Amino acid sequence: MRVMDGRAQLEVSFAEWIAANVADQARKMGVAIDEALDPRVPIAAQVNQNRWIAQCPDCFGATYVWKDDLRQFCPSCLNAVAGHRYRRVVMPAEDEVSAIEAMLEHRLLPHNRNWSPGETVEGLAAENLERGLPATLEVAGGDDQGTVGK
Ligand SMILES: [Zn+2]
Repeated sequence: MRVMDGRAQLEVSFAEWIAANVADQARKMGVAIDEALDPRVPIAAQVNQNRWIAQCPDCFGATYVWKDDLRQFCPSCLNAVAGHRYRRVVMPAEDEVSAIEAMLEHRLLPHNRNWSPGETVEGLAAENLERGLPATLEVAGGDDQGTVGK
């Protein structure tokens, strides 16, 4: 099983997710989603139990991160503090994302797949080694070995 983002898990784009899960609720509450991005501090993506998420800084609700559309909109508080604007989400650099995911994908149980901004790949590797898990940047084998499911 790979570390999932919104598209991988939900099989819709961020815009489709907004349309299906947030737009109606916003309309009912008389809230117009502002298409502009909140220029203030972006939300740093994290991995929580195998999911790339963005935690709302206001109500602490969490939503998936879409790696191909780095915006956040909280269905709980409708980003009221941000003037109902989308917030930017920041991910680590692409090669770091790959390395983080590789380290986490060596861990069989989704609830052990966690990463917070500031944690290093070396730190994740050390944790893997302490548990007798591989710490390579490639997840070997995959389905054939039965160690990493789909
Ligand atoms: Zn919120």
